[in-house]
Amino acid sequence: MAEVILKNVSKIYDDNTKAVDNMNINIRDKEFVVLVGPSGCGKTTTLRMIAGLEEISEGQILIDGKVINNLPPKDRDIAMVFQNYALYPHMTVYENMAFGLRLRKYDKSEIDKRVKEAAKILGLENYLIRKPKALSGGQRQRVAVGRAIVRNPKVFLFDEPLSNLDAKLRVQMRSEISRLHKELGTTMIYVTHDQVEAMTMGDKIVVMKDGKVLQIDTPLNLYNNPANKFVAGFIGSPAMNFIEGKIFDFGHIVFQSKQSNLSFNVPDKFIKLLSSYKNKSVWLGIRPEDFILRLNGDYKIEANGEFEVEINLIEPLGNQMLIYFTFEGHQLVAEHRGFISINKGTMQKFTLNLDKINFFDITTEERIL
Ligand code: ATP
Repeated sequence: MAEVILKNVSKIYDDNTKAVDNMNINIRDKEFVVLVGPSGCGKTTTLRMIAGLEEISEGQILIDGKVINNLPPKDRDIAMVFQNYALYPHMTVYENMAFGLRLRKYDKSEIDKRVKEAAKILGLENYLIRKPKALSGGQRQRVAVGRAIVRNPKVFLFDEPLSNLDAKLRVQMRSEISRLHKELGTTMIYVTHDQVEAMTMGDKIVVMKDGKVLQIDTPLNLYNNPANKFVAGFIGSPAMNFIEGKIFDFGHIVFQSKQSNLSFNVPDKFIKLLSSYKNKSVWLGIRPEDFILRLNGDYKIEANGEFEVEINLIEPLGNQMLIYFTFEGHQLVAEHRGFISINKGTMQKFTLNLDKINFFDITTEERIL
């Protein structure tokens, strides 16, 4: 049982690097929270401050209502799983898992019970007498998780635990950790720079950039209602496309791209929102699946927001195709469900699913709401 609260937390390293800048997060008991963001945004630093491995420069961290800023790591009842597993090579799987408990002077039978329980949960029962070098990457990762489980901590911290695994194993371990979370019902804080991992695992995602929290929300809300251009571009794969343009009032409100290759009457729901943007530049954001291919039969009637581009590259993925094209100097990508025959180098018309577009302020990059 543990609720973790970060209140105005900052970390300034000795060389004056501000790695975390006034961070506020409320993590409820049993919640699976993912910290995600590009390299260097302060994710690991945040985790290390929670674990007590890094001093907190400003603000407070509370676990179950108690400020833990000055509590040594061993008294925090937190277990951390690292990216490089940090297993002891000369010890067996059993000894690796038992080590922390031995240090804490648990009696032998209790250690044995806990190690065997963890081994069962993780499917490691047949590997207990092996040394780490005789295990696969996935099995090593499980031992590292097992070492955390035996301690029965209040909070689990994971620092990019899957980044050394191949793609297939990552997907498998992703669901194993999610299952583990359900089974153990423990608060988990998980750091990754992989937005797919964040989207598939987190109850709640914290998107970070340059030490700051940009948005905290459920995966679907982040996808559907990104607060700003960064979150919109970071969450979703392939990423959201952005087109620069201006809003005009030609009797009806129109978006026109910079070089006028795309223009459309904006849907009613945006008219009020865009009223202060007349004759001003904005970013238009379109998810790849919201580009709609115009097929030959559709060409007779010109659609609102129709444009034509040359196809640069097609990636057929079986159940869908990714179609790359250059629009006014920028590479964009459309996603098409199913398969149709189109070729690289040919001209192709698209329209937009105007219900799903987003506009962003060109200066603040906040979504226009
Ligand atoms: P990655 O995904 O690459 O692991 P991250 O989001 O976890 O990145 P941090 O490791 O928390 O980022 O680093 C945040 C910032 O703090 C970076 O600019 C980094 O260079 C800096 N930093 C980290 N550790 C130290 C240190 N001991 N001294 C000075 N600066 C540091």
